[in-house]
Amino acid sequence: MSNRAVFLRGKLVLYLADSTVKLLEKRAMIIKMLAVGPFASNCYIVGSSSTREGMIIDPGAEAETILRTVQQTGLSISLIVVTHAHVDHVDALAAVKERTNAQVALHEAETGLFSTAPMRMLTSLGLTPFKQPPGPDRLLKDGDRIDVGDLHFEVLHTPGHSPGGICLLGHGVVFSGDTLFNYGIGRTDFPGGSHERLMKSIREKLMVLPDETIVYPGHGPPTTIGDERRGNPFLQDYPL
Ligand SMILES: [Zn+2]
Ligand SMILES: [Zn+2]
Repeated sequence: MSNRAVFLRGKLVLYLADSTVKLLEKRAMIIKMLAVGPFASNCYIVGSSSTREGMIIDPGAEAETILRTVQQTGLSISLIVVTHAHVDHVDALAAVKERTNAQVALHEAETGLFSTAPMRMLTSLGLTPFKQPPGPDRLLKDGDRIDVGDLHFEVLHTPGHSPGGICLLGHGVVFSGDTLFNYGIGRTDFPGGSHERLMKSIREKLMVLPDETIVYPGHGPPTTIGDERRGNPFLQDYPL
């Protein structure tokens, strides 16, 4: 087993096994998960415990709750990442952006949906239209890197649930939006959805990750890639 040397003021103080280093790296990341709104969408506040910089993933509803939680973490939010533009993931975007002044980032294939779909979807659900989300400041594509202080995430383009759906991978965790859930997968009956594309995304972008990768989905409790590989009923018919 390989070890990592740890120095304190130039003096060697201990060796850490790689697995311990990974654990410590994981601990250095602050992750707050909030289930918000009528669809219980997971909003994540993610940041570096050393630089105190952070991002918000999917401010789906309840702007005040999200902002209060941000305040409790002491993080300064510079970025809001939208995994996809369905209304249950962007409803509080306008308010959260206004108060944090953070940049909004989403995948380039999601912009069409971003401007029209939330309104259409709300009206079809009989809900009152909300404040139109602000336009994105940054367009993402597969393989892009997102830096949050000393944390780094890779953008995985995972179309299927929506054309510009993304997952964010970094530091042993993946934020999977509505692509993969704990024993579930995203529905594909919305405009721009495709079951084949979703399965391809899950197979080629997520199931290639190590079993111990923690999955933080857009709805429901966290899981791991290994648990999903072994037990997710929607993945069993597909060679993964
Ligand atoms: Zn969705
Ligand atoms: Zn959703």
